[in-house]
Amino acid sequence: MTETKIISGKAKAEEVLGVVKAASEKLIAETGVTPGIAVVIVGEDPASQVYVRSKGKRAEECGFVSRTHRLDENVGEAELLALVQSLNDDADIHGILVQLPLPKHINEDKIIETILPEKDVDGFHPINIGLLSTGNRTRALIPCTPAGSLLLAKEALGSNLSGLNAVVIGRSNIVGKPMAALLLQESCTVTIAHSRTKNIEALAKTADILVAAVGRPKMINASWIKPGATVIDVGINRIPAPEKGEGKMRLVGDVDYDDVIGTAGAITPVPGGVGLMTIAMLMSNTVTAAARAAGRSDLEPEFKL
Ligand code: NDP
Repeated sequence: MTETKIISGKAKAEEVLGVVKAASEKLIAETGVTPGIAVVIVGEDPASQVYVRSKGKRAEECGFVSRTHRLDENVGEAELLALVQSLNDDADIHGILVQLPLPKHINEDKIIETILPEKDVDGFHPINIGLLSTGNRTRALIPCTPAGSLLLAKEALGSNLSGLNAVVIGRSNIVGKPMAALLLQESCTVTIAHSRTKNIEALAKTADILVAAVGRPKMINASWIKPGATVIDVGINRIPAPEKGEGKMRLVGDVDYDDVIGTAGAITPVPGGVGLMTIAMLMSNTVTAAARAAGRSDLEPEFKL
């Protein structure tokens, strides 16, 4: 039986936000530039609405200029592109985030590629993905969820991850692939698993660091976990919770949390883990983008990724 450390996303996110606020205040004091973020949401998807509200709230708490643009589900692609262009041209806005997923009639890639890379605080533009892949972290804006996940892994393991076996389950552009790129830069030996991977359970069991970014409630149980491994659960899944009352739902990760306690060396809870870090890293990217726009990269928030 291993004693499992619970990695608190709440505590780490608060620490990150403290650094971000201090960097923002210094930037304002020394350059007169206030970091500005614009969040664009299309349609009424309830989960997206929740995320966008909390992003706006956090940005205000950080003292940023914060704008939310709410567009109708049926908005045309041209109109959305025009909005992105106007935000690209707006000197008060340093970070642009278009909440995904977008309705089917809009080409997501086209929208992402229209955002100026230096304002792409989600880190999804091909230029930022390329900079991350070539290891240029000083120019890249790094996707928020993988960046936050890496910081949480380091909470458990310390800053040196060199030589550890990392298995990332999930290969999406927004989580799995950039997560693998970051872990590779940390000199981990990285394997990316996905829906076609054979013997996935045995593969997962080789991991010193296991990152789950699948979107399948409680898919991973103790038999997938090497004793003592660090488990980063990115999944956010809503499942029925009849114990809370009829029709109620609750959030669970991709990992069966209760089952892996006692086997994993450390784990991030859901909720209270990676999700909170994602927003904190978004605020960090916004100050980073503002500092770079002001020609003061030295004022970017400082913490070791
Ligand atoms: P995607 O649906 O884009 O990707 C899911 C990945 O999981 C795919 O690569 C898919 O493989 C793989 N997969 C699906 N089923 C299996 C299986 N049975 N075995 C192995 N691999 C499988 O999801 P995202 O990356 O966008 O998100 C993943 C999860 O993370 C979701 O729960 C999402 O809600 C959550 N999330 C959380 C965030 C946070 O802030 N904490 C932020 C973003 C996402 P294939 O490519 O072969 O289809």
